[in-house]
Amino acid sequence: MQDYPWWTDVQRELAKDAQKFTDEVLIPIGEKAVIKKEYPWEGVKAIAKKGWLGATIPSKYGGKQEEWGVTGACIVTEEASRAGAISAALSTALIGATHQILHDGTEEQKQRWLPKLATGELLGCITMTEPYVGSDIAAIETTGRREGNYYIVNGIKRFQTNAAAADLYMTYVKTSEDQDDRKKYRHLTGMILEKGMPGFSVERVNDWAGSEGMYNCYLRFDDVKVPIENVIGKEGEGWKVMMSGLNIERALGGASPLGLMRESIRYTKQHLERRVQSGRPTGTIATNHSKLADMYAKYQLCRLLVYYCAYCADLNREVPIEAALAKLYASEVALEVALDGIQCMGGNGLMKIYPVERYMRDAKLNQIAAGTSEVLRLLIYRMGSRVLAEDLKPHVRAFDEELGCPLPVGTPPAPKAPANERDVLKVLAEEYRINPGLSMTIEDMKIYLQCSDEDLMNYIQALEEKKLCQTWRNSRGQVELVRATLEGIKEANPPEYYKHIPSWVFPDDVF
Ligand SMILES: Cc1cc2nc3c(=O)[nH]c(=O)nc-3n(C[C@H](O)[C@H](O)[C@H](O)COP(=O)(O)OP(=O)(O)OC[C@H]3O[C@@H](n4cnc5c(N)ncnc54)[C@H](O)[C@@H]3O)c2cc1C
Repeated sequence: MQDYPWWTDVQRELAKDAQKFTDEVLIPIGEKAVIKKEYPWEGVKAIAKKGWLGATIPSKYGGKQEEWGVTGACIVTEEASRAGAISAALSTALIGATHQILHDGTEEQKQRWLPKLATGELLGCITMTEPYVGSDIAAIETTGRREGNYYIVNGIKRFQTNAAAADLYMTYVKTSEDQDDRKKYRHLTGMILEKGMPGFSVERVNDWAGSEGMYNCYLRFDDVKVPIENVIGKEGEGWKVMMSGLNIERALGGASPLGLMRESIRYTKQHLERRVQSGRPTGTIATNHSKLADMYAKYQLCRLLVYYCAYCADLNREVPIEAALAKLYASEVALEVALDGIQCMGGNGLMKIYPVERYMRDAKLNQIAAGTSEVLRLLIYRMGSRVLAEDLKPHVRAFDEELGCPLPVGTPPAPKAPANERDVLKVLAEEYRINPGLSMTIEDMKIYLQCSDEDLMNYIQALEEKKLCQTWRNSRGQVELVRATLEGIKEANPPEYYKHIPSWVFPDDVF
């Protein structure tokens, strides 16, 4: 496994050891479990013995967090993802129950559960999705009714990875019907449900594309009595607890497909170097070369994103954008890499004697589980707009009379107090010369106009009544965008003001 200059010696050693262990022990066990289609218990026990399940747990609870960091957790996740369904068990255990107990649990809860999670004596999983609740996870319908020192939990969850095998279920339930709580995201509570609690049962085990042998279940809760000691955080803080885990979940979600990408490239390269067609190895064919180069580039870029994110997280920086980008990019390119691998291998690529077709199915899962690619794009759009707000501020431009085109001015002009609505119209008409076809925001207008919001609105309203400007209002009725109407453009300046005919145009052609 390639390392990075910022990795510590311990992380480098971990990577070397994890790669060797995966090649020599995990892959043979994992591949056998896939073919036999059985839950990879042997592999899970093996990674537990190596301490991988304690990757994110501090040493005082028996884990390796200080030594390995988020980087180490990503290293073992990348390696495990070369070994079939073992990877799903590992990543679910790292983010399900473990993270929430660590982040929001009481000291008593940490002492009670973390040492056993670190050694694999207990396995965790995360229990959010329901039959009627997917991406809109705040709409959870499973209820928790407080009765003395217990919550009585009723409902159904579905798509639960590692359920049935797991012992601790980090479950989110609705504990308030109050609309005000719902608006403030205080209607949910997180709690640990334990295997064996009366009324808590596996309703169905799904057969799913990819990760053969891994359990994915519907879970039923029929009047399950959950002691208040199992609540993580306080009642009503479920949303906060859920969100706290998302960054680490997404960073690991980015690391998960790295191994299957590497294995896709590995099998493809082997094939291209050994398959002879038309008298030469298929690897010498330019289109196959080019596919392999793209696969390699995607894998390398993806690793950079994941391990940069992990590095920032190890520096205790918040990584909402980095983690979302890592998860999104990894999910998208892993599928492309697996598909290109299959194409390079021809018919053999689709045969189950090689695992590449399975990598394709595993890769598809990453675009859906733990936040779909669409939902991640929505988040990245929102967060990106906020984080990059300063860097993406529009240029202030002015019309350069000599060159006859708008140019950035660097420093904005000093704003002037408008004497009347005509001065406001002039600004809108000038915008027609600078950014033709675009409206102005109120902030844009204030670059040129020094007046109160109220005065500006009055001028805009007066112009609108005369049909010299047009506004676009948001759902609260507030003016967000303003532009001059065609009538307003004509009214503001004489026709020559807008005219610009470049010197290369034949004068006789212009009228
Ligand atoms: C194999 C597997 C394992 C899983 N493991 C777990 C687990 O361990 N624990 C758990 O709690 N859940 C788990 N899930 C559930 C997973 O997180 C959800 O499947 C996922 O969040 C999407 O929900 P959904 O399937 O109900 O799709 P829906 O929410 O119904 O979405 C359908 C489509 O609409 C799009 N869409 C929905 N809302 C929006 C929006 N606002 N903007 C843009 N597009 C939108 C989605 O992107 C998607 O393409 C798993 C799912 C799978 C398939």
